[in-house]
Amino acid sequence: MNHEQALEFDRRHIWHPYTSPTQPLPVYQVASASGVRLKLADGRELVDGMSSWWCAIHGYNHPVLNEALARQAGRMAHVMFGGLTHQPAIELARRLVDISPAPLNRVFFCDSGSVAVEVAIKMAIQSWVNQGQPDKTRLLTIRHGYHGDTFAAMAVSDPETGMHHRFRGVLAQQLFAEAPASASGEWRESDIASLQGLIAGHHRQLAAVILEPIVQGAGGMRFYAPEFLRRVRALCDQYQVLLIADEIATGFGRTGRLFACEHAGVSPDIMCLGKAITGGYLSFAATLTTEAVGRAIGQAGGVFMHGPTFMANPLACAVAEASIDLLLASDWQANVRRVEAGLRQGLAPCRELPAVAEVRVMGAIGVVEMREPVDLATIQARFVDRGVWLRPFGRLVYTMPPYVIDDVDLAFLTGQMTAVLSEQS
Ligand SMILES: *Cc1c(COP(=O)(O)O)cnc(C)c1O
Repeated sequence: MNHEQALEFDRRHIWHPYTSPTQPLPVYQVASASGVRLKLADGRELVDGMSSWWCAIHGYNHPVLNEALARQAGRMAHVMFGGLTHQPAIELARRLVDISPAPLNRVFFCDSGSVAVEVAIKMAIQSWVNQGQPDKTRLLTIRHGYHGDTFAAMAVSDPETGMHHRFRGVLAQQLFAEAPASASGEWRESDIASLQGLIAGHHRQLAAVILEPIVQGAGGMRFYAPEFLRRVRALCDQYQVLLIADEIATGFGRTGRLFACEHAGVSPDIMCLGKAITGGYLSFAATLTTEAVGRAIGQAGGVFMHGPTFMANPLACAVAEASIDLLLASDWQANVRRVEAGLRQGLAPCRELPAVAEVRVMGAIGVVEMREPVDLATIQARFVDRGVWLRPFGRLVYTMPPYVIDDVDLAFLTGQMTAVLSEQS
């Protein structure tokens, strides 16, 4: 097949994320990727502004991660985790317990972020059932969140930008509090009122509050103040509701802290990790919880009823272990601060554009919120023509580049973003 035929085959037979089977959006064929560059099959090179949806924090084709994967493949690619264990799982769990906020100390390995969220929700509900509180099955969250595409995760994702209208009547009816009013992180005392009212009114039915700490990703790319998270933690304690922190997008340094909960000095009862956990190599995730939740589930002979076929896949564990070591061995805080400064400086001119509503930056995340939705296919083609890879959605044109991006590439990326967005005006 030549290049055109290959793309035509793709168009006819392969589903891409969130697309129409009959009118798919254009896709670009990638031949290879290295560092912060994607090389297209037609020879063009793009500077990556997406880290492949938050994952590739060390850039692509990293020799250390390649080596970890190859070494593990030479020993065993996979064994079932029922009744067996292995060193990659043990070593990775040791690191996760070590670096995650205390007292999280029990690790459930799973295969994707959405599943990590399902597992977190099951843990929360099961812990209450086993403590004689079978009515505590509902969840409370805030608007503009995103927690994944499986059913329990969809039910707590934003009811407007999420998929609620497509699955009306099928999704569990969860409770939605208003998100903090400012999308750029200013705290107002009134921000907590909505969640406070809902938790006070419904705590007897509530298993947990679930939210993305500090940065809400795919549901709106919004930032909120640490004070909000501290208040949520205090309310959860006051009303005996568990707190689930979905750190799938924010984990492993993206916001400038290893985990975004650390901005607030708050520790959740259950934490979901995914995306960057393997440095972008394999689909993998983990749900961590505390001794207390573990004991509640285990009391009176209770078992936790979840166990994916590929649980704790050794290849994924080995590359995750290597990715975490690579991150911690580097001065990643300084690096994320450098990227943050580059994004602030590079995106500042967007503030002057008439089509732009707001520019906000936190850690290695830069967001340009437009006044009107952008046309994805058109704007993506413009970015590709200018040598950068970005995937806006709705009114949000945003970037979260690999941490290893250098100042020259970063200035190029933000410069091209600014240039394309000026054409929108
Ligand atoms: C991406 C994401 C998920 C879902 O992860 P998948 O691996 O795509 O299933 C859940 N929560 C958050 C915050 C995410 O960003």
